[in-house]
Amino acid sequence: MKTRRDFIKVSALGTMGAAMATSVVSMAKGSSLLGSPKGSDSGSNKQNRYPTYCEVCFWKCAAWTYTDKNGKISKIIGNENDPHCNGRLCPRGTGGIGMYYDNDRLTHPLIRVKGKGEEKDTFRKATWDEAFDLIASKMKDVSNKYGPEAFALFNHGSAGHHLGHLFKAYGSTNITAPSYAQCRGPREVGFAATFGSGVGSPEPTDIRDTKCLVLIGSHLGENMHNSQVQEMSDAIDKGVSIITVDPRLSVAASKSKFWLPIKPSTDLALLLAWINVIINEELYDRDYVEKYTYGLDQLKAHVKNMTPEWAYGITTIKPDVIRKTAREMADAAPSVIIHPGRHVTWYGDDTQRARAMAILNGLLGSWGRRGGFYFKESKSLPHFPHPHYPKPAWSWRDTLDGKYPLAGLAIANGLIDASIPAPEKKHVIKAWMVAGTNLPLTMPQKESLQKAMDSVEFIAVVDTMPMEITGYADVILPECTYLERYDDIRTSPNREPYLALRMPATEPLGDTKPAWWMAKELGHKLGLDEYFNYNDYEEVLDWQLQQVGSSLEEMKKIGVKKFPRKSGPLYLSKGEDYDFNTNSGKIEFYSTELADAGFDPMPVYTAHAEPPAGYYRLIYGRAPMHTFSRTANNPNLHDLKKENNIWINPKVAKLWDLKNDQYIWIKNQDGVISEFPIKVRVTERIRWDSIYMVHGFGHSDRKLSRAYGKGASDSDMITNVKIDPIMGGTGMRENFVTFLTEKPKEEVPS
Ligand code: SF4
Repeated sequence: MKTRRDFIKVSALGTMGAAMATSVVSMAKGSSLLGSPKGSDSGSNKQNRYPTYCEVCFWKCAAWTYTDKNGKISKIIGNENDPHCNGRLCPRGTGGIGMYYDNDRLTHPLIRVKGKGEEKDTFRKATWDEAFDLIASKMKDVSNKYGPEAFALFNHGSAGHHLGHLFKAYGSTNITAPSYAQCRGPREVGFAATFGSGVGSPEPTDIRDTKCLVLIGSHLGENMHNSQVQEMSDAIDKGVSIITVDPRLSVAASKSKFWLPIKPSTDLALLLAWINVIINEELYDRDYVEKYTYGLDQLKAHVKNMTPEWAYGITTIKPDVIRKTAREMADAAPSVIIHPGRHVTWYGDDTQRARAMAILNGLLGSWGRRGGFYFKESKSLPHFPHPHYPKPAWSWRDTLDGKYPLAGLAIANGLIDASIPAPEKKHVIKAWMVAGTNLPLTMPQKESLQKAMDSVEFIAVVDTMPMEITGYADVILPECTYLERYDDIRTSPNREPYLALRMPATEPLGDTKPAWWMAKELGHKLGLDEYFNYNDYEEVLDWQLQQVGSSLEEMKKIGVKKFPRKSGPLYLSKGEDYDFNTNSGKIEFYSTELADAGFDPMPVYTAHAEPPAGYYRLIYGRAPMHTFSRTANNPNLHDLKKENNIWINPKVAKLWDLKNDQYIWIKNQDGVISEFPIKVRVTERIRWDSIYMVHGFGHSDRKLSRAYGKGASDSDMITNVKIDPIMGGTGMRENFVTFLTEKPKEEVPS
């Protein structure tokens, strides 16, 4: 059925992607977008180098982009003074150059044209002025009719800050990123409820000095967060004991002393049994627990019956293994890390699972201890002066009717839901800007997403590539890649505070532009010039850097700059008094915040749905050479991995008569069938009740000439979600799939 906003393959234009490589070489240099002066000359090979930080994923490793004598980007290498990478980029980061050279890139602003009669919808090339006029007129229109709050921004990555500033100046704080409620949110809330501080990125895990690393569904080694993986590798050399809990023998599991192939959805029972053993065998850090924690007695009573024998019946992990691994952690304490994980939105009780992990760390005394979690620090930069933002009349929180009270950031699924009108809804989102996030392959429950996109009056998309989301846009603004632009100074926390500069190494390709420029120009059209009181972003960066005793000129030469710590040592000293940012001032085993909000103050295990007969639980993860769906078309990274495959246990494969490398379709419990087939991988490395696939494949936009039709999309299969009542995260692991060796005829796209 056709919908109001039909997905348009941007390829219908036939105007883009021409002779990209040659145009790259011949681009002129020296305009204000390139910046001046150039980075330093590396001498012997007459290359210029420019500081940047990587945006292939969001670990943000600082690097040098090299250009040859023709101004052509030749390589990217890590900045050796940067603690995010220690001079070594991961395979994805090295392949980041492919983002620049991808000949499928968006190169001009595009405006959707409604065809007449038999003509199909299509896009036409537009000037920036036309595109901005259209967006500004819609923003004014929405503001006049519904208030500026009805215009929402979905974002991911560096563009989000620039456009977020525009939205706040305009009057909307309905700004969201799926990295919260579809990824890290529950752990931030769970750890904050325990320690008074979330985890953040990079995680302050002291892996280099740890003696025991516990990974629960965490894909370190496959999810290549650079310095973390480097530290893990060093720790392995030093003999760290790794305990991996995963229904799949992941890369990390293969390096582990203990692999616990747990029955999926039962991790919380295992964590509670570990807590039971550590308390009952008095393996916890007595002095630490006495001095810094609150609620041990309540916790002891709470887990009294949650013995390893109790957990065995739930998790399938044998009691002696549960005891042995608990003792292994205690032997290493306080140099032990129960890693908080990254993508943790699984079953809807995810905040409570994160709480159990935090409690375990608290019992073992690892928070604020060498080899556990260090106290991170960042260098803050003042904001470039601008007037106060207007106070919005309502925000995302008002759309939730009191639900998800501990959500610390706007939840993307909440704003999607708020875009579907209903009589009882007081606040409805009427228009979107989407920057750097491919919602159709990122969000679960595609049907709701489609309904929301059909309902809103306008969608503007900012991206470098023709992703699926661009097909739903009314206007597309082509962003230049991170190699062609200035962005904000990186201020991420670490053991010591560091700043890192991103600057362009070459001119933006075609008619692409940086997001800071788009925000400023749109601000001008909206009469918001006073919020953008600068000529270009160099002026902003130089002003900010001058406030902390540096300058843009200095940062162009060095790329990263280290500052002394001001918040005290990395770890607690013996007997030190410390005030945790919780209601009690202590590490809360019994969470007063959760109790006050009406939730279980200590984690409670509840059983989750089992797969129906003939179905298997869908588990998804990461590949080291790809980031979400955004890199599948990158020529360098595509060469390393072109498609995903589906891991199937040999017993199951035999039952279904499936062979290695055979292509099959998958169908979920709600009858949704994968658009494209996926290759079978028969392996003992996955439990019989589950299947596994790497996320980010199965692109359906034909303009992605390499990625189109390669592999299957796990997101399409996620039609059932369990919402975390505490913070609104979407638990996505209660979806089950079965196998089809042929696609039913009626399902074949015409
Ligand atoms: Fe880039 Fe890899 Fe660092 Fe991510 S971990 S920022 S992809 S180099």
